[in-house]
Amino acid sequence: MIADLNYSNLVNPLLRYLHVLLLITVAVGCSSPPTVHTQELYVFGTLVSISAYTSDKVAFEEAVDAVDASFQRMHRDWHAWKGEGELVQLNRAIAAGDTRVVDPFLLPLIEQAKMLSGKSMGLFNPAIGRLIALWGFHSDELQVGTPPSRDEIEALLQYGPEMTDLVIDGGQVSSHNRQVSIDLGAYAKGVALELAIKQLAAHGITHAIVNAGGDLCVAGRRGERPWRIGIRHPQGRGVIAGMEVEDGECLLTSGNYERYREYQQVRYAHIIDPRSGYPVEHIASATVVARDGGLADAAATALSVAGPSQWLEVSRNMGLKQVMLVDEKGRIYLTPEMEQRVMFQEKPDEIIIGRP
Ligand code: AMP
Ligand code: MG
Repeated sequence: MIADLNYSNLVNPLLRYLHVLLLITVAVGCSSPPTVHTQELYVFGTLVSISAYTSDKVAFEEAVDAVDASFQRMHRDWHAWKGEGELVQLNRAIAAGDTRVVDPFLLPLIEQAKMLSGKSMGLFNPAIGRLIALWGFHSDELQVGTPPSRDEIEALLQYGPEMTDLVIDGGQVSSHNRQVSIDLGAYAKGVALELAIKQLAAHGITHAIVNAGGDLCVAGRRGERPWRIGIRHPQGRGVIAGMEVEDGECLLTSGNYERYREYQQVRYAHIIDPRSGYPVEHIASATVVARDGGLADAAATALSVAGPSQWLEVSRNMGLKQVMLVDEKGRIYLTPEMEQRVMFQEKPDEIIIGRP
């Protein structure tokens, strides 16, 4: 009995001591100063860099693993022409004149893309997948042969594939027009970036930037200051301007220079004007800042088609406030809100301010 008492007298303080020691160790571990951690993923044919300002490296790594798994699923189910994912199967059903029950992972994208296509006056038109394929952009390789003939283009254009041809009834999708083939290449990256930010937040990572080759969404701040980013120069000369991006914003840029096919020294850009069936020539790049990543991405593509003559009309219709266009002569077009924010590397020769 006495021995027992002595034993517990000894053990209890020892346990208490170990307990306190453990708490101190955990507290010290958590209070190590936050810093920037970065990881890179290769997905959607591009390098995606994820940075977070955090003291919890383990949580960050777990969050990146979760984002990576989601990106792989997006790549499978949102891809227009690779593999056997949801979108490939939907396109096949449309071509066969069938109705398809679309997975909830894809369905909201089809719905929002349809809505955005209407707002963009049809300049963002993801229903022109066949035209995009005809120009050779459903391929990982750079196309070098003769471009498609006018007859081939007209043969597809005559069917006028549009998102309004889609009938979305609950989870079921069908089309009046079998020539519709959906390509979300102009829009899905913006959706993916925004979802990645949300997924990081669900893992407690609330200060982060997800950057896919200059297309990005951010959360929170980089410590004392906002996240700072660079907008790609359309002539491939690094960065044209810098900007501080605020919590919850996305910045997407669309450009002629990104992908193209080349024939007899002529470059045919991967952005197609759905009205003519030909690649756009007049614009070099369009940048949009918005809180909705999918909207920013679709809008940047629509504005590349719209060009300087229609950018204000399209911006107004799509509810855009922060837009920058660079034309093939290097002239810069800015909305007043965007002008307040961009910091040019070199003073541009000509800036045109336009209010949507
Ligand atoms: P982005 O870099 O966001 O402008 O997307 C360009 C991609 O969108 C192209 O590679 C095509 O797959 C697709 N695309 C091209 N033109 C259009 C268009 N007018 N509307 C919708 N998607 C398009
Ligand atoms: Mg786009």
